[in-house]
Amino acid sequence: MYPLSKKTARFSDSVIRRMTRICMKHGAVNLSQGFPDFDPPRAILDRLAEVAYSGPHQYAVTWGARNFREALAEKQSRLMGRAIDPETEIVVTCGSTEAMMAAMLTVADPGDKVIIFSPFYENYGADAILSGAESVYVPLHPPDYHFNPDELEEAFKKRPKALVLCNPSNPSGKVFTLEELGVIADLAQKYDAYVITDEVYEHIVYAPHRHVYISSLPGMAGRTISCSSLSKTYSITGWRLGYIIASPEIIDAARKVHDFLTVGAAAPLMEAALAGLRLPDAYYNELLANYTEKRDIFLKGLDDLRIRHNDPAGAYYVMLDVSEFGYADDYVLCEDLARIVGVGAVPGSSFFREDVRDFIRLHFAKKTETLFEALNRLEHMRSKMLRAGRKSG
Ligand code: GLN
Repeated sequence: MYPLSKKTARFSDSVIRRMTRICMKHGAVNLSQGFPDFDPPRAILDRLAEVAYSGPHQYAVTWGARNFREALAEKQSRLMGRAIDPETEIVVTCGSTEAMMAAMLTVADPGDKVIIFSPFYENYGADAILSGAESVYVPLHPPDYHFNPDELEEAFKKRPKALVLCNPSNPSGKVFTLEELGVIADLAQKYDAYVITDEVYEHIVYAPHRHVYISSLPGMAGRTISCSSLSKTYSITGWRLGYIIASPEIIDAARKVHDFLTVGAAAPLMEAALAGLRLPDAYYNELLANYTEKRDIFLKGLDDLRIRHNDPAGAYYVMLDVSEFGYADDYVLCEDLARIVGVGAVPGSSFFREDVRDFIRLHFAKKTETLFEALNRLEHMRSKMLRAGRKSG
């Protein structure tokens, strides 16, 4: 038999989603794959029930139902500070996962370089490989995950086609400051590169931090490919509704890629999710207040257990420093954590380009009772894991 493609040999299946399967096997509280265990807003669910009978049930326009694009353009124009044309500047995708893949395929030819900050959300590495692009990694230095502008410029000197910017950042919880975004924007313009953003946590930014869209910086609207989704904002990760917003020239090409990747996002779900896009500002304030409470409960619980962690400014992940447990392999540690302690996490090394094994990622997008259950289980983490860690050598 001929060998299968070289591309598929270069990346593994998703570690995040593998950890969900391991959690199911051991009955662990799943704080690995980031998704909520609480319901989406009532308005969306009510509309979904109606749509079951009223439709639409057939294909929408390939680049997204017009009413969905119009509502999205209205919401995002306000947030992003420019008038987005729903006819020419949006393509609706199957989640931000497809948006990022389509963006990468739109920009990169085989052999092109793409800058990715490390640690990074695992999809970007696979997106680059599938596009034939070569990743150039720039470290974000823990514990505050800052980047060194000189290291970033060195990467730009390799003449990349694009930089991938996850802001707020998964897994680090970093929210890029205006000043940092200015450095990135200046370099993107100096070296004529695109910026592909992943801004799915745009509404989950803890005070006093705030989200700035890099597309809103001077000179950036035409070279930013903004990807995001409704998954986290409306707690509908299974609906797979995402989008790309960019200039008409970019969207024209991205729509072709999207057309042949997936044809389109689910028509009835777009119709139901419209109710979410039309929610008033109070909804987003409440979402943030709820996540702030979850973050405070969870981080305080970790502090009480004297488990070292970073302080996320955005998104809903926290990196725990597990170096004290003596594991040589953080995958083994995460399996043990699910099996022995009953809490699911993601091995930190799956996010880092560098050989960093000191961290695991937990998320706190869960009901408070689920978080308390996880914290109860984590109470015995130190004694149980120290014993297991010593054995694992
Ligand atoms: N973004 C979530 C995470 O990082 C889930 C991603 C996914 O499985 N599609 O855990």
